[in-house]
Amino acid sequence: MTRFSLEGRRALVTGANTGIGQAIALGLAAAGARVTCSGRRSCAETLERIARAGGAAQELTLDLADPMAAQDVFAGEGYDILINNAGIIRRAPAEEFTEADWDAVMDVNLKALFFTARAFAREALAQDRPAKIVNIASVLSFQGGVRVASYTAAKHGVAGLTKTLANEWAARRVNVNAIAPGYIETNNTEALRADPARFQAILDRIPAGRWGQPEDIADAAVFLSAPASDYVHGTVLCVDGGWLAR
Ligand code: NAP
Repeated sequence: MTRFSLEGRRALVTGANTGIGQAIALGLAAAGARVTCSGRRSCAETLERIARAGGAAQELTLDLADPMAAQDVFAGEGYDILINNAGIIRRAPAEEFTEADWDAVMDVNLKALFFTARAFAREALAQDRPAKIVNIASVLSFQGGVRVASYTAAKHGVAGLTKTLANEWAARRVNVNAIAPGYIETNNTEALRADPARFQAILDRIPAGRWGQPEDIADAAVFLSAPASDYVHGTVLCVDGGWLAR
């Protein structure tokens, strides 16, 4: 078995019905993990694709608009890997940004991420089991963006939390890391891709010369979930085609 294998591991991925979460669920399953695909709606398509590829998966409904929704999910279940992927974005000029759009994004992207990690880690720490947490951050964990006040604030928070949780749990064999995707073709970027000028402007700035695919993120998630990354703690790994290097 290689250090990149997830054979015998149990993983939970939030927001696994589509996009990056779906690709990560498929990637973890292909590496040998049993994957719980959680979503606020059905993950049937993800389950079907994992089964077709010969992997093992199950479904769990979890609406993280309630940031405490995952509190009872981990007890006694033997989870080794948590992928905090679920996220939303709201776009508006800062001077018109509403409290509702602030709270909705903060609740799913930051508060739920922390309290889900807390519930998962409590279980691993109590049993003295090694475990891996991978948070999905963003290039907007480093840059400001435009018209995305709550998203940028939340994603900067994800980068900070990743480091503080790593500081607290690294010595107890719980790895906490994050992935910062660049511009990936998913529902999250539908509005950007629907605007040809904006699409091209972004493309022109990506050193790799292409937008990212969800699978680009999945490979990094497998690494950060596997024994191969046992000495990696508190890092935010940019998978962005070179966007932030520019
Ligand atoms: P996406 O296709 O919109 O997927 C987001 C996922 O989160 C979906 O499964 C969505 O479920 C789920 N979700 C939203 N609200 C939820 C809730 N209340 N409870 C449970 N699940 C919820 O976009 P994506 O690009 O794959 O996004 C995945 C992660 O990557 C997000 O954290 C996003 O911020 C991050 N990211 C994306 C990009 C990019 O370029 N695409 C760049 C940087 C970071 P529904 O399908 O029901 O909405």
